[in-house]
Amino acid sequence: VVREMEKTTAKNLPKSTVTLTHPDRIYWPDEGVTKEGLVNYYAQVWRFMEPYVVNRPLALLRLPDGVEGHQRFFQKHAWKGMNENIEQITDPKDRGGEKLLRITDFDGVVALVQSAVLEIHPWGTTTDSWEKPDMITMDLDPGGEVPWESVIAAALEIKERLEAEGLAGFVKTSGGKGLHVVTPLKPKAGWAEVKAFAKRLADSMAAENPDRYIAKATKAERTGKIFIDYLRNGRGNTAVAAYSTRARPGATVSMPLEWSELTADIGPAYFTVDNTPPRLDALPKDPWDGFFAAAKPLEKRKR
Ligand code: ATP
Ligand code: MN
Ligand code: MN
Repeated sequence: VVREMEKTTAKNLPKSTVTLTHPDRIYWPDEGVTKEGLVNYYAQVWRFMEPYVVNRPLALLRLPDGVEGHQRFFQKHAWKGMNENIEQITDPKDRGGEKLLRITDFDGVVALVQSAVLEIHPWGTTTDSWEKPDMITMDLDPGGEVPWESVIAAALEIKERLEAEGLAGFVKTSGGKGLHVVTPLKPKAGWAEVKAFAKRLADSMAAENPDRYIAKATKAERTGKIFIDYLRNGRGNTAVAAYSTRARPGATVSMPLEWSELTADIGPAYFTVDNTPPRLDALPKDPWDGFFAAAKPLEKRKR
């Protein structure tokens, strides 16, 4: 008991002043994950998750009745009764338009949970540099009949291609069907250049291995192939945040991995609200240690 307490104290879990109404409300019935349970999950991952969600425009998937309910809202703008810890911000390119949403701290994520946000999807930039992304997300979407080993091979190939360009690659499970390879950038190139770079990467992989990869969004041709979805990288596009839960059965989460952990032993939906905190406690360091330190600008020759 004493050891457990020391561990919890050592972790220095964040606390929130946000009022949770109906803390026992069940969001994932099969797993018994409640609103309060979800807050506890985010408290445990917050020290790892924070830089990937704060100060970024957000799209939010809200399921007021949980994952088995019928209501599902993908929201980029405020809703009635939204908690004050979720900020409304003006898009500098759309000053007269509806305001966007942002959180800046742990109270913000608790406010999201209070509002039944079960997926958090940030832009690939911070509000300090709206027009200059600080990451690229390559989303690997396997079509039917693609073995998991092939998805792993695709992620490793993207990593190698990025490294050949002087860029770093970090991998996470999507919590759904695939993997995301994320590249930290020094904010320098604009959205058009970053998206063009991502498209060129996807196109060249599909051109070299047309039987394995496809770089077009057309669903019909995907069977047996991996769609290299580069479309997460335009202005206003989003990808699920590292450590965000997914509004799917199993209370799965999008989990950052060290490359050595990417084996046949774990699948895209392996990590959950339940098994993530013990995993992080057991790790010697952040699985994405050095992410922002590895950021490089996208140079002209790489565009
Ligand atoms: P998977 O491994 O199953 O592909 P994923 O997170 O990569 O998981 P999706 O959940 O299908 O893929 O979402 C694809 C992207 O589209 C997400 O990154 C998200 O930001 C965006 N998105 C999700 N739902 C919506 C929606 N209702 N409207 C617009 N964009 C959405
Ligand atoms: Mn995907
Ligand atoms: Mn996709």
